[in-house]
Amino acid sequence: MENCIFCKIASKEIEAEIVHEGDGWIAFKDLNPIAPVHVLIVPKEHIVSIEKTDNTALLGKLLTAAAKTAHKLKLSENGYRVVNNIGVYGGQTVPHLHFHLLGGRQMGWPPG
Ligand code: 5GP
Ligand code: ZN
Repeated sequence: MENCIFCKIASKEIEAEIVHEGDGWIAFKDLNPIAPVHVLIVPKEHIVSIEKTDNTALLGKLLTAAAKTAHKLKLSENGYRVVNNIGVYGGQTVPHLHFHLLGGRQMGWPPG
């Protein structure tokens, strides 16, 4: 989608530090990391949020991609967190579906 930053990163029109990639998805480092490892897993096609799709195959693939990326970044043993923010109250700032992969430190609960 035009003017969507994550579409542009997925199509490599804009640079990002890509850490993993697969069929229909890409994983790249967050520009403003909030943990030692902070990676975003996004579909290559433009989808605003989980509210706007019923593509269960793609959604499953994205979660599997998060686990594969965590494994690649050696987060599996200590654990990690996968977060999906939806809409205003969810704290979503980029309207292109993405899962945050956070690791490398102890996470707190509840989230803010
Ligand atoms: P949200 O707040 O929508 O859940 O997460 C959006 C995330 O995208 C934020 O953590 C923010 O730091 C990250 N982000 C925003 N713009 C860019 C960008 O141009 N490149 C990268 N790599 N990350 C970005
Ligand atoms: Zn997009």
